[in-house]
Amino acid sequence: MDMQTLVIHAARQTAAAAHAVNPPLVRTSTTVFDSYDAYKRAQSELVFDGPRYGRSGTSTTFELQRAMAELANAETCVATGSGLAAITAVLAAHAGPGRHILVSAGVYGPTRVFCDKELVPSGTDVEYFAHDADVSALLRDTTSLVFVETPASLTMEMWDVPAICAAAHERGVPVACDATWGTPVFFDAHALGVDISVHAATKFINGHCDLLLGLVTGTLDALAGVRAYCDRSGTHAAPDTCWLTLRGLRTLAVRMERHQRSARTVAQWLRSQPRVQRVLFPALETDPGHKLWRSQFSGAAGPFTVELAPCSEATFTRFIDRLSLFSLGTSWGGFESLVMPAVPHHLRALAIPADAPRLVRLHIGLENPRDLCDDLASALTA
Ligand SMILES: *Cc1c(COP(=O)(O)O)cnc(C)c1O
Repeated sequence: MDMQTLVIHAARQTAAAAHAVNPPLVRTSTTVFDSYDAYKRAQSELVFDGPRYGRSGTSTTFELQRAMAELANAETCVATGSGLAAITAVLAAHAGPGRHILVSAGVYGPTRVFCDKELVPSGTDVEYFAHDADVSALLRDTTSLVFVETPASLTMEMWDVPAICAAAHERGVPVACDATWGTPVFFDAHALGVDISVHAATKFINGHCDLLLGLVTGTLDALAGVRAYCDRSGTHAAPDTCWLTLRGLRTLAVRMERHQRSARTVAQWLRSQPRVQRVLFPALETDPGHKLWRSQFSGAAGPFTVELAPCSEATFTRFIDRLSLFSLGTSWGGFESLVMPAVPHHLRALAIPADAPRLVRLHIGLENPRDLCDDLASALTA
């Protein structure tokens, strides 16, 4: 089935059982059982897809997890309270004194902060690798995980995911990937070799800027440690949030198509503007990551980063404040366009001075792209 059809029909058993299009919203702390046998079974296993206690989910959670597993072409899925909680669960499940974790440079800022402030002080050796690094030379006997995010947050470098997976698997090391940017619609992480795929469903999958949620996909084996970590640490996705995310997910494919079309239009237009130095967007043929993007992704929704021509901080401030259709705020993936001054941890080698605030990250929403270009034009003029 094509993705356009799959997002509509994936995992609707709970809904069908209720003779409804959408599943009932089931909230509970306590799960009640029909028999002592059923109770014993539920307590003795890692629960991916069945009731045990509110923390591990209700039928609403399971319907979302099954739908996401189908879209991601994976055996199973674990929902977490936020995208960051999904990432930290994956990292924590593989961390420990004496263990070594490789993390792609330019990961989402809070991912890096978790590594530096939580994992490293408790004895995990975290090493960041560049997009052109030879991963096989960096793997050690103590390496427990390779974590990659592609493209990099803000600086938008592309990583060669199949090459990284091949190198890691040769040494028996699992690979996790933050696949939030591509979503299952444009990026089939597991087909490229990724063992654990992580999504901030907060972004495109929900698509309406009204909740936080993380989704992790993989095989039962690959996710056993993550499931156990979530159970032990109390990480929990609220059923209300799962219900809203399921509603958002049904329109994911059609939204992604529109985001992609508009992002390309706006990025091309920006490239022709004299006050714009560079557009960092792998979907553009001129981007250094374009070839890798084409070989791994079937589309690009944005968001992307824009480097303005050299300007003073006052000018930069005026540009941001003059925008009216682009709200100023972090995050992306919703229906409305957003702008954010981008301060990457890891500036691209092409010498962007760290003190020159000239990078902005744009998320192109579902507005008409002509109106968005007009808004950008007046801010650039200002
Ligand atoms: C936003 C984001 C996250 C974190 O998701 P939250 O739900 O906000 O915690 C993780 N990775 C990427 C790439 C993101 O953009």
